[in-house]
Amino acid sequence: VSELDLSSSLEAARKETEAAAKRYIAAQEGMVSAENELREARNKSQRLERAMRIINGEEEPAAAVATATATTAPPVAPPPPPKPAPSGPFANLACSACTSVGKMEEVWKPTKNGSMAHLLVCSDCKNERYLG
Ligand SMILES: [Zn+2]
Repeated sequence: VSELDLSSSLEAARKETEAAAKRYIAAQEGMVSAENELREARNKSQRLERAMRIINGEEEPAAAVATATATTAPPVAPPPPPKPAPSGPFANLACSACTSVGKMEEVWKPTKNGSMAHLLVCSDCKNERYLG
């Protein structure tokens, strides 16, 4: 293989790469515009479906307006903080009724005769265990 052949092969390969890159870019641009068209078409059909539901009385126009104007999703409330792991002397205590472990909470309750009753209450099944 002569040096000339090699350089002409290289030249051809470069041109082919360039052409392929151009085709790739064109395909990408085509995809973007197709995506936009798809989005437009979906929006249109959703608007028409909603109009149809309003005409059929299946949806309140006010609600439809509200959903139509709400272009952005409402902010999602942050999830509640995780419950603290049970601690204390009853953390590993199992409920005698439902056998849940660590659900017994220490509670003081006033009794009829004015004293305080010391109880453990299960937060799962509300089973009470009298401690005195
Ligand atoms: Zn229980």
